This record gives sequence, C-alpha cells and structure tokens, in this order.
Amino acid sequence: MSSEKTLHVLGLSGGKDSAALAMYMRNNYPELDIHYYFTDTGKELPEVNVFIDKLRGYLGKEIIDPYEEVFTSNRKKKDFDYHLEQHKNYLPSPQARWCTIQMKLVPFELWVKKKIEEEGYTEIVSYVGIRADEPARDGFLTNKVTEEYITIKMPFREDGLNRQDILNILQQADLYSDDEEVQAFRELKLGCNGIEQKLSEELLEQHFEQRLKVIKSDENHPYFKSNINIQTLAKVVSAMDQGKPGYYGWRSRSGCTFCFYQQKIEWLRLMEIYPDAYEEAKQYEKAAEDKRPDGTFYWLGKGTPLSVLEDDERKQMIVDNHKKRYDRFVKKQERQRARNPLQKIIYFSDVDVMDEIYDQAEGGGACVTCYK
Ligand code: SF4
Repeated sequence: MSSEKTLHVLGLSGGKDSAALAMYMRNNYPELDIHYYFTDTGKELPEVNVFIDKLRGYLGKEIIDPYEEVFTSNRKKKDFDYHLEQHKNYLPSPQARWCTIQMKLVPFELWVKKKIEEEGYTEIVSYVGIRADEPARDGFLTNKVTEEYITIKMPFREDGLNRQDILNILQQADLYSDDEEVQAFRELKLGCNGIEQKLSEELLEQHFEQRLKVIKSDENHPYFKSNINIQTLAKVVSAMDQGKPGYYGWRSRSGCTFCFYQQKIEWLRLMEIYPDAYEEAKQYEKAAEDKRPDGTFYWLGKGTPLSVLEDDERKQMIVDNHKKRYDRFVKKQERQRARNPLQKIIYFSDVDVMDEIYDQAEGGGACVTCYK
C-alpha cells in the first residue's frame, strides 16, 4: 500500500485566470479534493473581495487565507505597514518585491509546512492558471522549505485552453447574475418584449446616468465616494455581465490598490474611482520620503512621485498614449487577419490585453501569485 498523501492546492489571486481555473477544476476534475486559497494583503480592491466571495459560493468550498492560518494570533500586526517598517520604510518595487514574498509566499509556505508536519502530506500539487496561448514559465516561486514537495501543474496548458476559452468559462459561471447592476443592465438589454435589443448610445447613457445616481445615494456602495463617470461604470457592469470581476472594467490586474505593476493609465483610473486609495498610496510615498532622507522608490519608479500624474497636460498625454497603443494593437490584429483570412479577429477590451499593448510579456515580471 502506498504511503503517499497528496495535498492539491490552487491559489486564487482575485484575477480571472486563477478563478477560471478553479471553476474548470471543479467541473472537470471533481474527484480531486482541491484546497483553494487566497492571501488577502489587506490592500485589495473592493471588487476583488466581492469576486472571491462569489467564487466561494460557486465552488461550494472554503477558500482559506494562509495568512490567517499561520498568523492567527497577530494578523493585525503582520500587515503591509508592519512589513514596510521591517523593510526600513523602503516601498516595494519590481527590484525589491518584498511585499509578494512577505505577504503571499511566506504565509503560503508556512501553511504548507504545517500541513506536511501536522497532517502527514508527502506531496503537494499546485495548480496554476497559465494558458496554452502564453509562454511557459514557472507558475510559482518557492523556497527551500517546500520546493522538494511541490509539483506545479498547468491544466489550461495541458488541455490546450486559450484566452477566449477562459472568458467562456467565466461567462458560463455567470457569478454576477444576482448583482443589482447586472440585473438592471440585462433587463435593459431585453426590453419589454423579452428579446435582446441593440442599445443606442443615448439609451445606455440614460441608463447609467440613472444607475450612478442610485449608487451615489448609497453610502455603503464602494463607489459612493468615487468620481467614476458613466462610461467607466458601463464598462464595470459590462465586465460583470460577462462574468469577470468588476475591476476588469478599468484595471487589468488584481492585487494591491497601489501595486507598482499597474500602468499609468490604471493609476489615473484609480485616482478617479478610488480617490482614497490613491491618496493612501501618496501618503505612503510621503512617509517613505520623510523617513528615508537618502531617497526612496516611488510607486512609479525612482524619482517619479505619484503627484506628477495630477498635472492636466500629463494626464492627457497618458490617455492619448494609451489610446494610440490600443489602436495599434487592434490594427496589428487586423493586418494578421488580412494575411490569414481564416483567423478570427477578437476585439478584446484594452484591459484584457494590457500586457500586450505595453509590450510587457509575462505580466511585466509580476508573479502569478498576485494577479493571474
Ligand atoms: S499586488 Fe503588487 S504590491 Fe501587492 S503584493 Fe503583489 S506585487 Fe506587491
């Protein structure tokens, strides 16, 4: 009789690929007892927490937080501010990514170690949402504690699933079918005859204007304090209507509100949608500046504080540059189609293809733990 005991784990980042993978595993490999986990940094977007809650319901299983499992008695102490202080007030950056290590990888590894020592697991299989249409890479950073036990599996790659397949999985799961905004949007699309209608710009504008008024009168709504405009709100609702997390209406990745991997256009949108989170990010820069007379990193990189984004001319340049890059991406697709008429053109939103339009292969170096 084999003495092997395997722990199957799947890490959720709050992003769409890991969520779709969890759905895919639930539906196609029900015999596997997968332990789902999500490591909350305490600085997540409100939309991420909503998404994880909905996912929990869909999976019908607990989604544990390794941080809570291993630091039960001092959770509060071990938050971002605690680690920032431990790192002598150096903000994390792509070159010194202590945030991912301390807030995600270490808790995960301690949790796995606990499982091995206390429950006798001899092997860990970790499922990662790398798709068939993206480059192969390591799905998970490990250290000495767990690397000898861990095997990484990439079911999407193995089963040949690409970006469109992932979007289809999310659409079918339809996590937001009970959401008030999604329901109102669907009613609008169906019209009074129950047949889906093509919506005019004018009708859409009226609808979202009305919805925005409702949102702004509800002080518990995450967008209550926001300066979100009706175009962005329409994108958020449209993303949820397609089963994607709401932040997909304006931002390409999950993770911390102040994540330094986001593009400048995403910072501008954060400023618009969550002004408090933007202000908090600025405060972190200010505090780091005051405490480190020898200089610090800023979220945008060395020597570039966030306040540069507040200049109107600069804002317009960022918006124009983003549009130019996105248009270039669409044109490239169209050229490829002209060379190969059998190839279908899929008009992904700018958020779906953010890494491609900024030539940031593999998430610009971001670890899949944070955003996949
Ligand atoms: S999301 Fe960004 S800031 Fe947050 S832990 Fe990951 S890399 Fe760090």
